[in-house]
Order: sequence, then C-alpha cells, then structure tokens
Amino acid sequence: MSEGNEIIVNLCPTGMVPRRAKVPAVPITPEEIAADVRRCFEAGASMVHLHARDDDEEPTWRGDRFADICSAVADAAPEIVLVVTTSGRNWSEVEKRAASLDVAGRAKPEMASLTLGSMNFASGPSINSPETIAALATAMRERGIVPELETFDVGMIDYANYLISRGILQPPYYFNVLLGSRGTAAVSAANAAAALAALPDGATWAFAGIGRAQVAANTLATSLGGHVRVGLEDNPYYDWHDRSAESTNARLVERAVRIARDVGREPATPGEARRIIGLPAVSRASSAGPALDGPSRAAA
Ligand code: ZN
Repeated sequence: MSEGNEIIVNLCPTGMVPRRAKVPAVPITPEEIAADVRRCFEAGASMVHLHARDDDEEPTWRGDRFADICSAVADAAPEIVLVVTTSGRNWSEVEKRAASLDVAGRAKPEMASLTLGSMNFASGPSINSPETIAALATAMRERGIVPELETFDVGMIDYANYLISRGILQPPYYFNVLLGSRGTAAVSAANAAAALAALPDGATWAFAGIGRAQVAANTLATSLGGHVRVGLEDNPYYDWHDRSAESTNARLVERAVRIARDVGREPATPGEARRIIGLPAVSRASSAGPALDGPSRAAA
C-alpha cells in the first residue's frame, strides 16, 4: 500500500453512459473534454481516465478519436497522467478494445484500464474473458502502458494476483477498486477491508464509488490513506437529494479535494502521482503549454 500525505485524484470525466439530456455538463467532444480536464487539473486532479464519444454522444472505440482527445488533453494539461479505457461494455473484439492503446507521440497514454473479470452492471452484463484480459494486458505491456486495474469484487483482485504469478501482469500495480455498482460489491467496511487485504505488496490503490456511493467510497479511501477516482462517468449527480444542483466534473473534484484537506491530505501533483504509482517521468510540455508541475496549478 502506498503511504504519504499526497492523494492522487483520478478524474473520469465522460465514460460510456452519461448523456447530455440527463447530465448537461458531461464533456463529449475533444475540445470539451480538454477544457474540462484543465479545470479539474487546476482543482487538484493529477490523472485522467478517458473514454471517447462521437459528436452524437455515442461511445466509440476508434483510435483516431482517442488520438484527438488525448492530443487535446495533452495541449490543455500537459502535466496530467493520461489514462485511456479499454472497456468492452459496448463491443467485445480485442482489436477494438485495444485501439485506444495505439495513440502515439506526445499524447501516448501512460496507463489504460483493465477490468479483471465479468460482471453485471445495472444495464446488463459486461464480459471480460480470461483470453481478452490476457490479450489486453499483453498489448499494454508491449507498449509500455501500465494498467489501471479495475476490480469490482475481491475475486477480481485474487485474479490479478494469479496473473501476477503467471507474469502476465507486472509491476507497478495501480488498483482501482470500484464499489457500489449494482451487481458487484457494495461500499462497506467489510468489502473495503477484504479488498485491501487481497492487494499485492507494493500496490497503489484507489476507491471509486458508482452513483451515490462515490462520496462514501472516495471518503473511505481518503481516510485510509488510499487514492480516489471521481467524475461524472461514475456518478452523474453532485447531490442525489437535489438532482437539479449543478453537477460538473470540477465540482466533484473540488469536493474530493476539500474532503482530502479536511483529513490532512494534499492533492498530488502529476509528478508526485507518477512517483507514487511508479510511472516513468513524462515531458509533454511544449512551447505553448506550461512547464510540467510548474506553477500553473492554483496554490493550495
Ligand atoms: Zn471508464
């Protein structure tokens, strides 16, 4: 487990599900996503988990769209740790799921999501076969991309340990434990403890919460010394009691950072996040953008 005061805030701005009709502030186009990431970076996010949508809001696997999004984000927030999804929720072919891994050059992703099992979401099943998981893990390793290990149950962490024993997964390990999705582990002390007990030595870990579980899961991880994933992908409403309240990624990040500071932790800079996770340093700065980990972020 990671130690220290800094907390890594992993932003998930878009996802596959939220649509503007219900979540007006969800960023869709590369320009919208980049501007939103910039705002959230200034609020304390140090990594970003990206999905791609077409202009009509439909999810897409296309590599050129991922390239456009990653490039726009790299221009807007050159410091931030870039993560892409390999979700198979809307398509199953490994070639499509791995298309996001081939973004090259300055906007090359440093990490990519890897879900470690099959499960049900409220809307239906999500299938991740052993062959698909191994193929995606191998594709990432070949490209020097570190997995964001997405686990929805302790059994998926056990499966990660099996893949580690086979050499299919190699360090560094960043686990995102997603709690509160209907069909998998709820957010509870027992589930959180079981997840932490199952993690391999040296793993960095975060809790994400789905829907109304987001604040609870994030707060639990913050209190226990872990890290968080937060954003409209996982939770469409800032306030579940007053759904008309403004729900933006920036507000969600600001709240996560406020809670962190209330328990004596500071948001990690992207450079600190890379050091905590064990990622290589990245120099994405251009003449147009601010220096890496420079004074561009608002002071604490
Ligand atoms: Zn995602």
